Amino acid sequence: MVVVYSYVWIQNRCVNMIAHLFNAPLGESEAAVGVGTVGSSEAIMLAGLAFKRQWQNKRKAEGKPYDKPNIVTGANVQVCWEKFARYFEVELKEVKLRDGYYVMDPVKAVELVDENTICVAAILGSTLNGEFEDVKHLNDLLTKKNQETGWDTPIHVDAASGGFIAPFLYPELEWDFRLPLVKSINVSGHKYGLVYAGIGWVIWRSKDDLPDELIFHINYLGADQPTFTLNFSKGSSQVIAQYYQLIRLGYEGYRNIMENCQENAMVLKEGLLKTGHFNIVSKDKGVPLVAFSLKDNSCHNEFEVSDMLRRYGWIVPAYTMPPDAQHVTVLRVVIREDFSRTLAERLVNDIQKVLYELDTLPAKVTAKVQESNKKSEIETQREITEAWKKFVREKKKTNGVC
Ligand SMILES: *Cc1c(COP(=O)(O)O)cnc(C)c1O
Repeated sequence: MVVVYSYVWIQNRCVNMIAHLFNAPLGESEAAVGVGTVGSSEAIMLAGLAFKRQWQNKRKAEGKPYDKPNIVTGANVQVCWEKFARYFEVELKEVKLRDGYYVMDPVKAVELVDENTICVAAILGSTLNGEFEDVKHLNDLLTKKNQETGWDTPIHVDAASGGFIAPFLYPELEWDFRLPLVKSINVSGHKYGLVYAGIGWVIWRSKDDLPDELIFHINYLGADQPTFTLNFSKGSSQVIAQYYQLIRLGYEGYRNIMENCQENAMVLKEGLLKTGHFNIVSKDKGVPLVAFSLKDNSCHNEFEVSDMLRRYGWIVPAYTMPPDAQHVTVLRVVIREDFSRTLAERLVNDIQKVLYELDTLPAKVTAKVQESNKKSEIETQREITEAWKKFVREKKKTNGVC
């Protein structure tokens, strides 16, 4: 009982601090509510359910059909939104990306909104290139549409990565509860919240935005305890760790760390630009990460760069963008607290070596990859492994790089 009480107390302290960080309004009848979750995914399930229930209640009261809810997002959403849509039977309406624009276009998003839209989900810090979506513009456009139609479509901000970046690096950027239509926000404690994996947060603007039906009350632990997470018991260590980080580092501590990450991201970006081989696909103002693609991938592509970097101990993923930008492949490096300037410089160095090696390597690996589209995946993998083994064997004869 004492343990549960302390846990709830510490959790609520974290909720208050994070709500404050996100500029939740503080009035007589206003007080943000929220809860610690396993990560942003669980947080998003809860936020999505709250919107679905709110919308259904409103439609029922108006005597209108409430069986075809939809949600509007960009095609760049993290997979947890697709999970939410499928698990909880909400149609996902995605705004397509286009060449050179890899986040949700607010104009197109608002065009997709109809009377069945439970919310528009904006992302603060796209998983794919770290870019912040323009939530303020979205809020303005949606306010106008709501006035014209009489709907009151709200906004959720998925700030899984950006929620612990923007308040420290760009405090003037309006993306949070300062915008009236933003009713809930999620953030991952285990990304830039600086806690080990297993903690996320969802914050609602006020308790009116969290329908009562989602809250269960149990008393068998000795006192009334409201619960509104998908699972019940979980370890308290992550919540305690989050509390520790928040009070140990404070606003200034987090700001220093995020500034450092951002500076190291810029060192990496400049180094990559200097090679002359890459286009930068991430933005300077965003999550501290560098997403980049080859200027010329006709001979060797980003997947080969990724594969070759593994030999130097780097795991830099290469992936294709979602529709309609699927022809663009990017490599992505996320800069965390422990990624120092020295490491950034070493990575640029190793990438340079990889580029040099690829230049001396015939285009046959690429050719094989293309030709092997007809072959089974295992066959392809075997062939590529063989090609690399051969390449490494030959290399080893002349130098000691491994
Ligand atoms: C990482 C991420 C998620 C999922 O978060 P988890 O904490 O891993 O569950 C959701 N949305 C975005 C934008 C993310 O970057």
